[in-house]
Amino acid sequence: MRDHYDCLVIGGGPGGCTTAALVAEASHTTLLVERQKHPRYHIGESLMPETYWTLQRLGVLEKMKSSDFVKKFSVAFVSHTGAESNPFFFKEHDPRECSQTWQVERAEFDKMLFDNAADKGADCLDQTRVLDVLFEDDRAVGAKIQQQGAEPREIRATVVVDATGQQALLANRLGLKVDYPDLKKVAIWGYYRNATRDPGDHGGATIIMHTNEKKSWFWYIPLQDGITSIGVVGDRDYLLKDRGTPEDIFEDELVKCPALADRLMNAELTSEFRVAKEFSYKTTRHAGDGWVLVGDAWGFIDPIYSSGVYFAMKSGEHAADTIIEGLRIGDTSAKQLSRWVDDFHSGTKWIRKLVDAYYTNEFSFGRFMKAHPEHKGNLTDLLIGRIFYNGAGKIFEDMEPELAAAKQAALETRW
Ligand SMILES: Cc1cc2nc3c(=O)[nH]c(=O)nc-3n(C[C@H](O)[C@H](O)[C@H](O)COP(=O)(O)OP(=O)(O)OC[C@H]3O[C@@H](n4cnc5c(N)ncnc54)[C@H](O)[C@@H]3O)c2cc1C
Repeated sequence: MRDHYDCLVIGGGPGGCTTAALVAEASHTTLLVERQKHPRYHIGESLMPETYWTLQRLGVLEKMKSSDFVKKFSVAFVSHTGAESNPFFFKEHDPRECSQTWQVERAEFDKMLFDNAADKGADCLDQTRVLDVLFEDDRAVGAKIQQQGAEPREIRATVVVDATGQQALLANRLGLKVDYPDLKKVAIWGYYRNATRDPGDHGGATIIMHTNEKKSWFWYIPLQDGITSIGVVGDRDYLLKDRGTPEDIFEDELVKCPALADRLMNAELTSEFRVAKEFSYKTTRHAGDGWVLVGDAWGFIDPIYSSGVYFAMKSGEHAADTIIEGLRIGDTSAKQLSRWVDDFHSGTKWIRKLVDAYYTNEFSFGRFMKAHPEHKGNLTDLLIGRIFYNGAGKIFEDMEPELAAAKQAALETRW
């Protein structure tokens, strides 16, 4: 380990590993630190197809193709009445190879990305925690790190990347984190063996299923070795208040989702239930002099459309490009390091809007799509993650007035 690096990346998840690999590949000295020991468990298993391009740039596509990860060709939605949408097959919209993606076991996936960063030349340390980011005036100049079993030490760096996920080290320290008041959600999940899968290519699909009163929804994500990740998401107050253990709550909600109960008829629970609370937030600043946020440390919307890993890797890639350019021209100011942020925000806001539509209970996606079949291509683009082009949000020209009307009607009924 050196005393000074061009770039110090905190957090060995998809966001941090992407940034570290690309900056190191550009021949800049890079240190990537992860507090846990890789491979380590993480939630967030379903990828969006557009992750393809970052995987390709990182040079790990062949590894993905030869892995045992379940191939994901489609997504489907089950409504609160139990009606199942036709699968959204990404290849029907775009026949290229990039329309197929994967359902990944994160321990294996993140380890592959961590090792890849090392292959590209980054110094990669797991079991090493960043205790604090060091600032001189307003500029980040390094971090105090501690390897397991060793004394803390200071490492200087020209740029510090916060990719600490939901720990959001810098955003918490600098008071940049803002919750979405309408997204105070909780998730409870576990793993099942032998859940029923659809035949053919749709067997690898993510299926999103509403419960009968639309107060919660389940994800169904098929993984390798016959395991399926199943989780329920709902408002914190609804899901947690006076409801018993996570297992009790999960079971209660399952009864309200016959489409899932049928799929689990012959399945066996193979894990304990895990719980995550209030994971949705944004940050009010994304870069400063000598520092930049990527991935969940930048913000997280909601798990429903499986956008988290994609956003982490895409933001990691953009951050890397501005760091590489900044190091080349000798400018690692806030202005330089945040050059990618506006465009990134312009694209991700379409997913935020889609999340809002899903949680507007008075609005029916099915009815809207029947009335506007011309938007199917645009909607599939959003589900693929193709959100960074002019016109990506065209569907909202028709959807937003209907959403507003649905919300207004709901307000009037309540009064
Ligand atoms: C319930 C739920 C379900 C989800 N489902 C999906 C899904 O299906 N698909 C999807 O794409 N996304 C999903 N997500 C989101 C996904 O988990 C995240 O968006 C993604 O992991 C973000 O990657 P990241 O690299 O930013 O952070 P992370 O993957 O969280 O990595 C951050 C790393 O930083 C390390 N770290 C933290 N603090 C320190 C420190 N001080 N020093 C050193 N290291 C540190 C952590 O140990 C961690 O390994 C889900 C999220 C939730 C809450």
